[in-house]
Amino acid sequence: MNLFDHPEFSGHEQVVFNRDDVTGLRAIIAIHNTNRGPALGGCRMWPYADEAAALEDALRLSRGMTYKAAMAGLDLGGGKAVIIGDARTDKTGNMMKAFGRAVDRLSRRYITAEDVGTTVADMDTIKTVTDHVVGVTGGAGDPSNSTAHGVYIGILAAVRHKLGRDTLDGLHIAVQGVGHVGRFLCDRLHKAGARLSVTDIDLAALERAEREFGATVAAPDEIYGLDCDLFAPCALGAVVNDDTLPRLKCPIVAGSANNVLDEARHGADLRRAGILYAPDYVINAGGLIDVARFALGFDIESARGKLRQIDGTLMEIFSRADAEDRPTAEVADAIAEERFL
Ligand code: NAD
Repeated sequence: MNLFDHPEFSGHEQVVFNRDDVTGLRAIIAIHNTNRGPALGGCRMWPYADEAAALEDALRLSRGMTYKAAMAGLDLGGGKAVIIGDARTDKTGNMMKAFGRAVDRLSRRYITAEDVGTTVADMDTIKTVTDHVVGVTGGAGDPSNSTAHGVYIGILAAVRHKLGRDTLDGLHIAVQGVGHVGRFLCDRLHKAGARLSVTDIDLAALERAEREFGATVAAPDEIYGLDCDLFAPCALGAVVNDDTLPRLKCPIVAGSANNVLDEARHGADLRRAGILYAPDYVINAGGLIDVARFALGFDIESARGKLRQIDGTLMEIFSRADAEDRPTAEVADAIAEERFL
C-alpha cells in the first residue's frame, strides 16, 4: 500500500503511527487541521481488517471533526485516533497508557476523547500520563442530552425556514431511533406539541416512547414513507439513499445521525425533490460543544450560547443554499472551509 497516495488524504497536517511492542499498541493519530485550535477527536478501538482500513477511518473522521468544530464556532481543529484491535479482548490499561504517552508527545496538538471501543475508564487511565484528554470521570459525561437539544434548536430553525412557522405545535414528526439522543429529542418535541411517529429495532425503547410521548409506532421500513412534516434520523447513517429518497414525503430531513446522506449527490437529489436538509454535522454538534467546554475551559453559559448558535448557522446555510441554488450540505462545507482555511 502506498500511504502517501491514500484517497482519503485531504490536506491533513500530520499523521502519526504509534507502535509499542511491550503493550501491543498499534495506533494512528490523524491531525487534519489546527488553524482554529488543537485537534479534538475521539479514540476509536476497532478490529480493522487491515492497516489501510484503519488509516482510512482516521483520515476521514479527523477531517469531519475539523468541519464540525468550525461550524460550531469552537476554537478547535479536527483530529481522530484509531487503535487497531478488539476492545473486548486486546485492550489493557498499559496499552491505554502507551496510547496516552503518544498523545502527550504531540504537546496538545491533539486532544483525545472517548469513542467506539473506548470508555470513561480508559480516559481516566490516559489521564494518568497526559492532560490532553477529555471525557474523564467528573467531566462532560453523556453528551446525548446536549446533542438532542442542539437538534431541537435545528429543527425549529428548519421549520421556520421551510414551513414559515415558529412553533412545532400540531406538526407530525417521524423519528427514526429512540435511543440516547432520540429519546431526549422526543421528549422536547412532545412538550412542544408535536405529534410523533417513531421506529426502532429495540421493542422496549419503542414501548417507552409510546407510553411517555404518546408516539405512534411504525415498522423500521415504514418510517421513510410516512406523510409527515419532518423526518428526524437518529439511528443510522446513509439513510437518505437511492432506495429511500423516492419514498420520502416530508418537506424536511433533520436529525442527529452522522453521515445521513449515503453519497454527496443525495444532497442535490433532496434539493431537487424540494426537501430541506439540515446538514448532520451542523445540527448534531451539541455533544461536541459539551466536550469542548472541558477541553477549552469555557463555562456552561457560553456552551448554551454556542448551542443556540446552531439556529443562526443553519439559517445562514439555508439562505445561502437558496440564493446559490446549491445543496445545503455543499454550502455547509463551503462555510466551514471559510472558517478554518
Ligand atoms: P443509540 O445507540 O443510543 O441509539 C440509536 C437507536 O437506533 C437505538 O435505540 C437502536 O436500537 C436504533 N436503531 C438501530 N438500528 C435501527 C434501524 N435499522 N431502524 C430503527 N432504529 C434503529 O445512539 P445515540 O447516541 O442515540 O446516537 C444516535 C445517532 O446520533 C447516531 O447516528 C450517532 O452517531 C449520532 N450522534 C450521537 C451523538 C451523541 O451525543 N450521542 C452526537 C452526535 C451524533
